[in-house]
Amino acid sequence: MKPLGLNDFHTRWSRYGDRVLAAVDRVGQSGRLILGSEVSRFESELAQWWGLPSCVGCASGLDALEIGLRCAGLQPGDKVLTTPLSAFATALAVTRAGGVPVFADVDASGQLDLELAESALADHSNVRFLVPVHLYGHALDLERLRALRERFSLRIVEDCAQAIGARSRGVVVGSVGDFAATSFYPTKNLGAFGDGGAVLTGSEPGAELARQLRDYGQSGKFEHAHLGLNSRLDELQAAILGRVLLPELAGFTRRRAEIAQRYRAGIQHPMLSLVPPPAGSQSVWHLYPILVAGDRASLQRHLERADIATGVHYPTLIPDQPVFRDRALELSLTPLPRARLFAECEVSLPIHPFLSDEDVDRVVEACNGWSA
Ligand SMILES: *Cc1c(COP(=O)(O)O)cnc(C)c1O
Repeated sequence: MKPLGLNDFHTRWSRYGDRVLAAVDRVGQSGRLILGSEVSRFESELAQWWGLPSCVGCASGLDALEIGLRCAGLQPGDKVLTTPLSAFATALAVTRAGGVPVFADVDASGQLDLELAESALADHSNVRFLVPVHLYGHALDLERLRALRERFSLRIVEDCAQAIGARSRGVVVGSVGDFAATSFYPTKNLGAFGDGGAVLTGSEPGAELARQLRDYGQSGKFEHAHLGLNSRLDELQAAILGRVLLPELAGFTRRRAEIAQRYRAGIQHPMLSLVPPPAGSQSVWHLYPILVAGDRASLQRHLERADIATGVHYPTLIPDQPVFRDRALELSLTPLPRARLFAECEVSLPIHPFLSDEDVDRVVEACNGWSA
């Protein structure tokens, strides 16, 4: 049987390889490899697609988060509230920007619980930065996020690495925070042929600072007003993203949503529960998480035998990572029982846009046929 992976880069290449090579050829012919017209063209296209005024391409999602936090005014030692259930990069960016990540538990959708966040912020007046993560491609409740922002005068950098284009009751993710950060890591919904990321913002001075920070902190040629990074998006990646993949993103997202719908309708097993999106979320389905009551590894082995790949997002909470473990209690503003449940029970099913209906049905049947 055809193996079903979490991603299918071979099919992507067979469908878009010619256009990717044409984009590469264009850059080669131009003779400009760094911060040329392909980067600025892609930045304005993505900003327009997203509906935010400014976009600054950089080298990764991690860097985009760090740059966003620095632009938002994070100072060394500042605490930043975020979720314990995310890619490690979310918390790593906080520490790289000089901050200290602190954690509150997640809700039934696996997202930072905004109600708990609200009481944690009320109890800890020294926490005034927030990095909400739109996990799995869902959108957090943005009305609530806006209310939190106003109540506590928060500075917010939204982690949109998994949620490009997701909306909450019509409002696009990234538009409530001061900055949005996203990633073009190959597995992401808008995945490059290598690393990449971007910061988006409604603040033109903020965007200008981000442009300086990604380029050694240069405020003018050979003039360094800041200690920046080398974090530029390559012309090659920008050309591929802008000319080949961004125009396909709406179609890819539609297909992901169809697959999610097929899973929702098809998966019926007493030991498997679907993870509900947050209320009002128009999700882009980066991942398809389910929760397994019982032996998760047994389900994964069962699917593996049917040539179906699975993932776990994420098996270890960020505060439980070795580098934070000694301080896990101090960094956790609330107990984390729900996040722990996700860490122990979550399994991600394949949901990339190149799956056929038959492929999806194979996954559904295999799930339903699992004898726990
Ligand atoms: C992938 C990811 C990142 C990091 O992006 P990179 O481009 O790999 O640095 C950050 N946050 C989340 C939620 C992610 O999924």
